[in-house]
Amino acid sequence: MLETLRQIVQEVNAASGLEDALGIIVRQVRVAMGTEVCSIYLREPGGERFIFRATEGLNQEQVGLASLAAGEGLVGTVAEREEPLNLENAESHPNFRFFPDLGEEHFDAFLGVPIIHQRDVLGVLVVQQAEHRRFDESEEAFLVTMSAQLAAVIAHARVTGAVDSDEVAEGAPAKIGGVPGAPGIAIGTCVVVSPIADLYAVPRKTVKDRRAELHAFRFALDRVREDIQGVADNLGGELSPEDHALFDVYLGILDDSSIGREVVGLIKAGQWAQGALSKVMIEHIRHFERMEHSYLKERAVDVKDLGTRVLSYLQASTKEEQVFPDNAVLVGEELTASSLGEIPREKLAGLISVRGSGNSHVAILARAMGVPTVMGAVDLPYTRLEGRSVVIDGYNGTVHLNPRPEVLSRFKEVVDSDLELNKDLESLRDQPCVTLDGHRMPLWVNTGLMADVVRSLEQGAEGVGLYRTEVPFLLRERFPSEEEQRQIYRNQLEAFAPRPVTMRTLDIGGDKSLPYFPIEEDNPFLGWRGIRVTLDHPEIFLSQVRAMLKANDGLGNLRIMLPMISSVSELDEALDLIRRSHREVVQEGVTTELPSIGVMVEVPSAVYQARALARRVDFLSVGSNDLTQYLLAVDRNNARVADLYHSLHPAVLQALQEVATAAMAEGKKVGICGELAGDPEGAVLLLAMGYDMLSMNATSLPKVKKALRNVSLVEARELLAAALQREDPAEIHALLERFLAEHGMERFIHNPVD
Ligand code: PEP
Ligand code: MG
Repeated sequence: MLETLRQIVQEVNAASGLEDALGIIVRQVRVAMGTEVCSIYLREPGGERFIFRATEGLNQEQVGLASLAAGEGLVGTVAEREEPLNLENAESHPNFRFFPDLGEEHFDAFLGVPIIHQRDVLGVLVVQQAEHRRFDESEEAFLVTMSAQLAAVIAHARVTGAVDSDEVAEGAPAKIGGVPGAPGIAIGTCVVVSPIADLYAVPRKTVKDRRAELHAFRFALDRVREDIQGVADNLGGELSPEDHALFDVYLGILDDSSIGREVVGLIKAGQWAQGALSKVMIEHIRHFERMEHSYLKERAVDVKDLGTRVLSYLQASTKEEQVFPDNAVLVGEELTASSLGEIPREKLAGLISVRGSGNSHVAILARAMGVPTVMGAVDLPYTRLEGRSVVIDGYNGTVHLNPRPEVLSRFKEVVDSDLELNKDLESLRDQPCVTLDGHRMPLWVNTGLMADVVRSLEQGAEGVGLYRTEVPFLLRERFPSEEEQRQIYRNQLEAFAPRPVTMRTLDIGGDKSLPYFPIEEDNPFLGWRGIRVTLDHPEIFLSQVRAMLKANDGLGNLRIMLPMISSVSELDEALDLIRRSHREVVQEGVTTELPSIGVMVEVPSAVYQARALARRVDFLSVGSNDLTQYLLAVDRNNARVADLYHSLHPAVLQALQEVATAAMAEGKKVGICGELAGDPEGAVLLLAMGYDMLSMNATSLPKVKKALRNVSLVEARELLAAALQREDPAEIHALLERFLAEHGMERFIHNPVD
């Protein structure tokens, strides 16, 4: 059964579009289950009716015509109840509805299972048989498993259908769900970012200059032939003639008479060389993978290897030529911080990443840069989007292809209103952040890139609450030396002096791995991360702290902060190392006091030990991004569980209150540097909890300032008291939205446009 399932899913995955995929499913499931009929009903895009979309065994002419509402007929009943329906005599069921043209009258036995993707009922998969019998348990289990596996493929194919205008009526609107990455609306043109040499991530493109593409392809082929010939020659003495012949077979795969010819054919038809190569190679890889014979199956690996080699040469030859359109929206499987560096900022309108979530580091950087971003758009057929126009809604985490004119104009209105709001906010730049009843709340920024510095100062930042030192580490090919680090840190400290700059010691692990220091773990967020790594490598920690202290020479605005502390012993150890470094650099002639030292509270144990930690240091700073992930056991990078990641969850609010109270009890300052600080709703609650400072990305700062200047501390406390009474995050969210609206801040609330 497992093998049959695997084969069907694989074949459906390789389908060219939705119609093809549905056709394969009904054909193959009918054969696998030995039934007379297999049909699929799919919910119409944007509607509620279930349309008869594919069949083997019923009247093909009714495909696309017959349809049922949820709850109507047996199919509608399956859809409504979201569970299988297994009947030996369909007609005797009270909900049975007869469709004269379908040709169902001969079939008594009926088994229908819902097709559900991310809680959404996409359709119903049905098998029918003339024999008067109930399908047995194993048949039902097979169909349920099949449907569960196919749901994601169908969801994906549905969107793909909207992208390929030859599949569905041209320009069919499609809305693809993801999660909010960075706020704002972007209307622009897709530029697909593909990882180097990944045959499966090559964007589709057509070109005019076919000769140039043919030339590039032949050139790349020649280089690969030379490489392989070179390897064969090097091994010449060690190989038997038979072994040597294997290289000829290998090279033969790319011959003009076989795969090479197919690629050339597609290029001549107008595709660009990389796209043509990827299409042909993937088809051949799938073909070999499906083979029964293990020797032939193995050939898939060879074909993939050869294809990848040719692709690398093609990519190398086009690298320098990339020209970005205006309002470019970068789209990729998994965008990284470095992909942002490849495009000039003035060309960049937005980002869409198929993987990752709003708390992935690329999203955090995007927020700092003010680039609207959608993360976790898992159903987006991103390789087909090159050059397509797209709208991204970074407030609600949705991507819109071919939006209807009225939807597009509503998006344009939001863009205009955002521009207007930003102008309003600019006037606040030099105003202090003071509540209506005179309470002062310092607003600081989170930084990492040098570019953040200018933006932060422009927005009126009063200090840096979190300088992510791993960012310069991530952008290098080896650990920076102590002197290199000193210079980087000096730039930060000087740029903000006399304002304080809080430097966090290296926080790698989790989703931040250095290319030159790979950490491979099954559970990276629960593994070797943050302070755990640097305490195990005191040489890294010491040189970083020494570099920070030296950079502070004569300035005095450095603060040091320790990430991922989960017990006091880690803190004691780190404090010893910092004090030791301080003694050393002072002996070396550097003028610096021992800076303020703080602990990040970002794991639950630190919440419960907040007083013990606070006693040992000068300040606490809550890392609410990680704290939320660990309190709720929700991976901050996983789009599948992103809707469970509630930064205003009652448990999170209680933890935040507990940390603030603990710090106050020890007479220590407490701040927050997670993304919650940059959310106007969150900021009002944090003010009420007694936080002494909020640190956020530079883009959020003016909004938070506006929000806090519009409320009084007394009102904020009343709001907090009410919020702490609520048991559900949605209720808290609704309460806060109402509060913002009542205080003239509707413009900070962004409900979906359609
Ligand atoms: C946090 O976890 O809230 C935090 C500020 O650190 P980072 O996002 O860099 O993990
Ligand atoms: Mg963190």
